[in-house]
Amino acid sequence: MSVRHLVLVLGDQLSHDNPALAGFDPAADRILMVEAPGEAGHVWSHKARIALFLSAMRHFAAELEARGWPVDYLRLGEHPHASLAAAWRAAVVRHDPAGLVVCEPGEWRLEQALHALGSELGLPVALRPDTHFLTSRAAFQRWAGDRETLLMEHFYRAMRKHHRVLMDGKEPAGGTWNFDKDNRQAFGRGGPGALPAAPRFTPDAITLDVLATVRKHFPEHPGSLDSFAWPVTRADALQALAAFVRERLPGFGTHQDAMWTDTPFLWHSLLAPALNLKLLDPREVIRAAEDAWRAGQAPLPAVEGFIRQILGWREFIRGVYWRDQPAMGEANHFGHTRPLPAWFWTGETRMNCQRQMIRQTLDHGYAHHIQRLMVTGNFALLAGLSPQAVAGWFLAVYVDAVEWVELPNVAGMALYANGGRFTSKPYVASGAYIKRMSNYCSGCSYSPDVKTGPRACPVSTLYWDFLDRHAHMLATNPRCTLMLKPLERMSEIERAAMRSHAAALADGLDKL
Ligand SMILES: Cc1cc2nc3c(=O)[nH]c(=O)nc-3n(C[C@H](O)[C@H](O)[C@H](O)COP(=O)(O)OP(=O)(O)OC[C@H]3O[C@@H](n4cnc5c(N)ncnc54)[C@H](O)[C@@H]3O)c2cc1C
Ligand code: SF4
Repeated sequence: MSVRHLVLVLGDQLSHDNPALAGFDPAADRILMVEAPGEAGHVWSHKARIALFLSAMRHFAAELEARGWPVDYLRLGEHPHASLAAAWRAAVVRHDPAGLVVCEPGEWRLEQALHALGSELGLPVALRPDTHFLTSRAAFQRWAGDRETLLMEHFYRAMRKHHRVLMDGKEPAGGTWNFDKDNRQAFGRGGPGALPAAPRFTPDAITLDVLATVRKHFPEHPGSLDSFAWPVTRADALQALAAFVRERLPGFGTHQDAMWTDTPFLWHSLLAPALNLKLLDPREVIRAAEDAWRAGQAPLPAVEGFIRQILGWREFIRGVYWRDQPAMGEANHFGHTRPLPAWFWTGETRMNCQRQMIRQTLDHGYAHHIQRLMVTGNFALLAGLSPQAVAGWFLAVYVDAVEWVELPNVAGMALYANGGRFTSKPYVASGAYIKRMSNYCSGCSYSPDVKTGPRACPVSTLYWDFLDRHAHMLATNPRCTLMLKPLERMSEIERAAMRSHAAALADGLDKL
C-alpha cells in the first residue's frame, strides 16, 4: 500500500522534536531507520562510536513504536543494504511514498545522497531545517555575509545579546564577555586532587545486544567496549546534564585546558555525544548552566566558559561547516601529505603525551578539547600529516564525532588546512606547552628541555622546524611575531642541527 510520507530519521536525529516528525500521521506515513554497515565503515570507526549510535537509535525507535507509530527499523546483519542510499531506495520501492521527508542531515555527503536519490527516483525530498540549533544555516550565512575571515568572538557576543544569555540588561553579566583569564590554569605538582565521578549508565538489554552485535560485526575496528557507559536515551541524557551541572560545572573553567595522566574526564561535561545525537537540546543545556549561576551554585567564569562552548563554538562551527563544504574537506593550505603513523591506532609510541591521549581515546572514545587540539592535532600539523587522513581519524575515534563539528575543528582549528578562515594563526605549540599544562613529560622517554640528540622532545623539534619552514608566511602575521623571536635568536648552526633532526623524525614517524 502506498504511503503519504516516508520519513527518514538519521542516526544523529534522535529527538522527538525532530522537524521531520512534525505533522506525522501514523495512518498515512511511515518512519524508516537504517543501521547501514557503510556508515560504520566509511571511516574506521571506534567500536564505542558504532555502539553509541546503534543503541541510541534502537532506543529511539522503541519510543516511537510505543506511541503506536509505524517504524521500518533495519538492523545491522538483518538486511542486505550496504549503504543508507541503497536502503532508502529499497524502502521507496516497498512503500511507494508520495515523497520523502527528512531533517537536514549533519553531513554534506548525506545531503548530496538525498538530492541524488530524489532526482533518480523523480520523488520530492522535503529537507526540513534543523531546529536543534539556535542558528539556522541561512541565519549564519546572513551573519557571515561576504566576510573572508569569521571571528567566533563576534558571533558569540551577537548570540548572547540575541538570545539574552548571561546578560544583565544590555551588558554582559559580570561586566565582561570573556573570563578566559580566570580559566585555563594548569594543575600544581599534586595534580587535580579528588574529582567528582563521571556518571555511568549501565548498559540495559538493548545496549548489551548492540555491544554483542558490534563485537561480532566489527571485531577489527579500533577501540574497546569494556567501559561503555554513555547515555543512550533522552532520560539518561537529562540525568547526565543534571549530574554535570550539580557536580562538575562549578569546577569547569579553572582547569578547562589542563591534562593529567590517567584522568580523562576531569570537570568536562561529557555531553557532546548526547547533544550531537540530539538527545539534548542546546537551549536546555545553556539554561541549566545559567540557572546554576543565578542560583549561586556555580561561579560565573565557569558558567561563561561552558556556555561559550555551546552557544558560541558549537553553533559557529556548524555554520562554518555548511558555508565552506565541500571545499573544507579538500583544503590543504600547507600541502601536507604524510600518512598517519601506525601508532595513531594503537597508542604504541614513546611520546607519553600522544600515548596517554590515544590510549584514553581507544579506551573511552573520549578526549577533551585541549588534548585533541594541542596534543594530537598539534602533532599532526607539525609532522605534516595529510589533513584528510587526520580528519578521517578524528571522525572515526570519538563517540561524539559527526562531520559538521569534527571537520571544522580538524581542518580549521587544529591543522589550519583552510588557511585561517576562522583562526587568526596556526595553533602550534612546543613541548613546553604540554609540560606546562600536564604531567605527561615527567613520564616520557623524551625531554622537552633537551634540544638535540635522541632525548630531544619530537614535539619541540618539529615545532621549531615548522616555524622555520613557514617563517616567511608567519612573519606577516602580527599575532605570530612573539612566537618567532626564539627562532630568530638561534644560530645558523643550531638551526641546521634542528632541521636535520626534524627531517630524520619526519622520515621515521612510525618509530617515535
Ligand atoms: C581536532 C578536534 C576535533 C574535534 N571533534 C569533535 C567532534 O567530532 N564532535 C564534537 O562534538 N566536538 C569535537 N571537538 C570539539 C571538542 O573537543 C568536543 O566537543 C569536546 O571535547 C567534547 O567533550 P565534552 O562534551 O566533555 O566537552 P566540554 O569541554 O564539556 O564542552 C562543552 C560542550 O561544548 C561544545 N564544544 C566545546 N568545544 C567545541 C568546539 N571546538 N566545537 C564545537 N563544539 C564545542 C561541545 O558540545 C561540548 O559538549 C573537536 C575538537 C578538536 C580540536
Ligand atoms: S617530552 Fe615531548 S613527547 Fe614527551 S610528553 Fe613531553 S611534549 Fe610529549
